[in-house]
Amino acid sequence: MIPMRFATRALRVAQEPDPKFRAVVPPLYQSSTFAWESLDDIPKIDYTRCTNPNRDMLEQVVASLENGRFGVLYSSGMAAIAATFSLLQNGDHMLMAEDIYGGTFRLAEKYLPKQGITTSFFDAHNPETIRKVVTPQTKLLIFESPTNPTLRCPDLRKVAEVAHEYGLTVVFDNTFASPALQNPLDLGSDIVVHSTTKYISGHSDVIGGATITNDLDIQNHLFEWNKAYGCAPSPFDNWLSLRGVRTLGLRMEKHCSNAQIVAEALTKAEGVTKVHYPGLPDHPDHEIAKSQMRGFGGMVSFELETVELARAVAESTKVFLLAESLGGVESLVAYPPLMSHATMTEEQRVERGIPPTMLRLSVGIEDPEDLVEDLIQAIASARKTTALV
Ligand SMILES: *Cc1c(COP(=O)(O)O)cnc(C)c1O
Repeated sequence: MIPMRFATRALRVAQEPDPKFRAVVPPLYQSSTFAWESLDDIPKIDYTRCTNPNRDMLEQVVASLENGRFGVLYSSGMAAIAATFSLLQNGDHMLMAEDIYGGTFRLAEKYLPKQGITTSFFDAHNPETIRKVVTPQTKLLIFESPTNPTLRCPDLRKVAEVAHEYGLTVVFDNTFASPALQNPLDLGSDIVVHSTTKYISGHSDVIGGATITNDLDIQNHLFEWNKAYGCAPSPFDNWLSLRGVRTLGLRMEKHCSNAQIVAEALTKAEGVTKVHYPGLPDHPDHEIAKSQMRGFGGMVSFELETVELARAVAESTKVFLLAESLGGVESLVAYPPLMSHATMTEEQRVERGIPPTMLRLSVGIEDPEDLVEDLIQAIASARKTTALV
C-alpha cells in the first residue's frame, strides 16, 4: 500500500472489498466459530473469543491510526486497562496519576491489592514527583491527558522520559484526545489504551476498548490475556466501531471547533466564574497542549457561581442531554459529583480541583450557534429559578 495520511488510513487500512462479492463495506461476520478445511489447516480465525474478522480488521485500523504496529480490542475500555495491569505480578508496584479516570482508580484501590499489587500516586503535571514514589518494585506507570474533568494536559514526553529512567512500562489512556489529535506512542508511551466507547466509535452505541503497542512481547501477552479472560468484543460492536472510526478525523475537527466556540462563549457568560479548555490562551497547559496535540478536543468544563446554579443549569439545557460518557456526535452535560466522580468524597474532589459548582460538557457536532444559545438560555433560566437575578 502507498503511504497514507490519517483520514485516508481510517477508510482504507485493512478494508479491501470482500473477496466474494466485492462489497465496499466490510461484511459482518456474526459467527462464533469458523469451519476448518482439514485437520492439517488450522484456520487463522477459528473462534470469536480468540478473534474474529471484524475485530481483526478494526485492530489493524486502530493500530494504524495510533502509528502503532499492533492492536488488541476488548469488550470495554476497563477490560483494556485491566489487561495492561496483568503485566504486573504479586509484589509489583505501580504509579498512577492523581487525576486518573475513576474506573482505573477503582481497580488500583479495590482489586489489585488482592493480587499483591500496590499503587502510589504522582502528579503528572510535575513529573519530578515520580522520583519521590518510585521503588525498586515499581514496574508500570499510567496517566492520561486531557484529564477528567479539569482538562489539564501533562507533558507526555517528560512523564515518559522520567518513567523510562527507572525502566517503567508507560501506559497512556488516550480516550479524551483520540488518535486524531494525539499519538502517545510517538511521544514515548509504550502502550496506548482507549475506551473505544468514546470518540473512536463516536455514536454512543457501543462499549469497547483497545490497546496499541509497538512491542511484540507486550502484544502477545495482551492478546493471550484477552483470550484467557474472555473479554472479546462482539462482531457487531466491532462492525459498528469500524463504521464510526471511518469518520473520526472529520468528527474531531467539528468537535474541536465547536468546543472552542462554546468555551469562548462561556468565558463571557454571566454566572460563569471559570472555564477549563486547553484551547483557551489562559489555560495553564495551553502551550503543552499545542506542542503535543493537533487540536484541543471536544471536552469543556466550567464553574458557576453556586452549587444550586450548577445543578439547575445541568437540568435546564435542551440540546445538551444530561448524561454520563463522552465522545459521541450529540452534546452531553455531566455533573461530576453525582456521575463520573461519585465514588470520591467531597473533600477528595475539591482536593483534585473538582468543586461542586463544576459542569462538564462533551461538545458534539451540532450547529455551534444552537449549543451556545442552549447554554446561555439554561444559565439565564437557572439564575432565575435560583433567585440570583
Ligand atoms: C470511559 C473511559 C474509560 C472506561 O471505558 P469503558 O469503555 O466505559 O469501559 C477509561 N478511561 C477513560 C479516560 C474513559 O473516559
